[in-house]
Parts: sequence; structure tokens; C-alpha cells
Amino acid sequence: MVNFLTDTHAHLCDQAFDQDRREVINRAQKAGVKAIVLVGETLDDAKRNLALAGEYPCLKAAAGLYPEYADLEEAERLIAFIRNQPRSFSAIGEVGLDFWIAKEEEARELQRVVFRKFIELAGELDLPLNVHSRSAW
Ligand SMILES: [Zn+2]
Repeated sequence: MVNFLTDTHAHLCDQAFDQDRREVINRAQKAGVKAIVLVGETLDDAKRNLALAGEYPCLKAAAGLYPEYADLEEAERLIAFIRNQPRSFSAIGEVGLDFWIAKEEEARELQRVVFRKFIELAGELDLPLNVHSRSAW
């Protein structure tokens, strides 16, 4: 019998939930979900996830740079933000590789470099990685 569920990957910081986020969380809890990991795609998402996790004890903040937004400077800004408050985060993500979006080798290599930085950060902070992988095995 299942009596404890964790949603390990939810984008509840998305504006699509601005009208009914509380109802969505209530429905999840009624269905037995005890914890929801809020993944982020950008630095702004990371900030929103922290605020939401402060508002709802069942929400666990994560922070990452979605592969579509791979950018070295943005990655460094986000990594510095996470390093400033590492215990506030439950995971690093959403990070990874998306070679369906990145068709050219140059763009794929940039995704690899950024992904490696977040893998190293996860190791350094002993946090799990929440990985996106599409057409990139
Ligand atoms: Zn996702």
C-alpha cells in the first residue's frame, strides 16, 4: 500500500499556476503527495521556488538552468545564487541536455559545459540532480 508520495519534478513556479496554485497543491496533498520538488529553468524561477517553499512546507525548492537557456554567464550567476544559500535547496534542476533543441555541435557543447558545471555543484553541495534529457543519450 502506498501511503507516501513525492512528486520529484514540478514546475509550479510557472505563471500557468498563478490562478490556481493553491488548489493544485491541495489536490496533490489530498491524493497522498507529501512533498513536491519545484524545479526551475532560470534564476528567476529559483527565486520564485524559494518564495513558494517558504509559503508551503510541502514544497521543496530546486534551482537549475534549463538546457534551452544554456549560457555561461547565466549559469555562473545561478551557481553563485545557489552557493549563497545551499541549504535552502533540495536539488539542482532542472539541468541537462536537449539535443532536439540544439541541433548544431557548438550549441550541444555549450549545453555539455553548462551541465558539467551543475553536476560539479551538485557534488560539491551533496544535492541530487534533477535531469532533463531529450535526444541526448
Ligand atoms: Zn521539467
